[in-house]
Amino acid sequence: MSIAILWFRRDLRLADNPALSTAVAAHEKVLPLYVHAPEEDGEWAPGAASRWWLHHSLAALDASLRVHHGSLQIRHGSSLDALRAAIKASGATAVYFNRLYEPRAIARDKAVRRALEADGIEVASFNAALWCEPWDIATQQDEPYRVFTPFWRNLRPRIDEVGPLDAPANLSLVALPETSALDALGLLPTLDWARGFAEWTPGERGAQEMLGLFADDAVGHYVESRDIPARHGTSRLSPHLHFGEISPQQVAAGLREQVTKRTNGADIEPYLRQLGWREFGHHLLYHFPKTPKENFNPKFDAFRWEKRDAHALKRWKQGRTGIPIVDAGMRELWATGWMHNRVRMLVASLLTKNLLQHWLLGETYFWDTLVDADLANNAMGWQWVAGSGADAAPYFRIFNPVTQSEKFDPDGAYIRRWVPELAQAKGRLVHAPWEDEAFLKASGYPPPLVDLKRSREDALTAYQAARSGP
Ligand code: FAD
Repeated sequence: MSIAILWFRRDLRLADNPALSTAVAAHEKVLPLYVHAPEEDGEWAPGAASRWWLHHSLAALDASLRVHHGSLQIRHGSSLDALRAAIKASGATAVYFNRLYEPRAIARDKAVRRALEADGIEVASFNAALWCEPWDIATQQDEPYRVFTPFWRNLRPRIDEVGPLDAPANLSLVALPETSALDALGLLPTLDWARGFAEWTPGERGAQEMLGLFADDAVGHYVESRDIPARHGTSRLSPHLHFGEISPQQVAAGLREQVTKRTNGADIEPYLRQLGWREFGHHLLYHFPKTPKENFNPKFDAFRWEKRDAHALKRWKQGRTGIPIVDAGMRELWATGWMHNRVRMLVASLLTKNLLQHWLLGETYFWDTLVDADLANNAMGWQWVAGSGADAAPYFRIFNPVTQSEKFDPDGAYIRRWVPELAQAKGRLVHAPWEDEAFLKASGYPPPLVDLKRSREDALTAYQAARSGP
């Protein structure tokens, strides 16, 4: 009897899982294994919100496997040791997995492959996360892309070529004599901080439900609604995509199917383009693996950040900067593990431009608190806002959080939801409560941490100094 180990990582689904489908086709039995090895991710081991998600996603995968009369086998410790132990215990002759693109994961996977092949084990890896792997797309000069629009122009025609695979109809699963309990991994927070995360349903079924909700209605209004944080105008698929509970191929196919069924045929192109940014982030991370820690644009190394301001950082994290749209976003993040994209840009801009704090400080906080924390997207997002990234916002574009708030949250519904001190604010005061001192005092909401106008000028001066060099 031939057995293959399916080494699950961030591909926590049964449908459109090429490693799984190939293992099922080539072997009589499959041993589904998850190895918990956060040490192998070094400083980018999953943060607290991601660990919460991971716990529930693994539980969901286990439940799906139980339908096939098996269960997810769990081991804690070095990936190679765990795989070798599982091979020894089960008699497996092959290990199949889907590829990851973070630098440490790539190095680990190469080492594991080499060691297992030397042991005489068949090892095969697959693409389950991207439309196009980073090494399969290049500029006409055969270089990696650094600008999104030409990248997307090249990628867009290719995404229609590949459709998703069905889940294997019959899975014949084997178990190990010993497996760790999911609870023993200690992924859930000890503080009761994740109560507000209950609105999420991690796992493959939750991902499909989220896609269904979006395809039913919101995708038709994506262009008008995607920047309005008070609306459920985006897909909220980011954590599901990060953990591989759904693939971009499945998302695109699901949307196409839904749109074809409807007579009013929504335009899904703007949405697909946004998924293209995710691909671009992975492309950048693969080709420029230092970008989670270093400026993508080395000219930016001359930029003089203010030294770490513990007080300002604390107020930013707590959502008590006194800038309502920023505080609403930071409180949404703390309560739900997610923040709307427009607001992510505004909170990042306040931290890096008005407060002149290094983007790494924001990146690491997001890493710990986002359920969708993703090395590629997070690094790209922070560097884009800071102005140091590939295809970044020009340095002189400093968001004015009050104007942005008036534009994207015109009646203050988002602010009122997350900043109850301002629930009764009238007119413009919900965006700029400091304009009425008596109201501000009575509301209990803090005065602004920075003068927006002066700090904007200071930031421009600092940016210009860095541009012109010493
Ligand atoms: P939708 O608008 O429905 O988009 C669909 C999918 O496309 C998303 O799920 C995501 O996978 C991808 N996507 C959309 N916008 C972007 C983008 N700008 N960059 C890369 N991919 C995108 N996204 C993460 O997944 N993880 C992160 O850690 C992360 N950190 C960010 C940090 C900052 C400072 C900024 C400005 C953005 C960050 N983003 C990150 C990108 C973006 O904010 C989220 O992907 C998006 O808000 C997720 O919500 P959604 O699924 O409803 O998005």
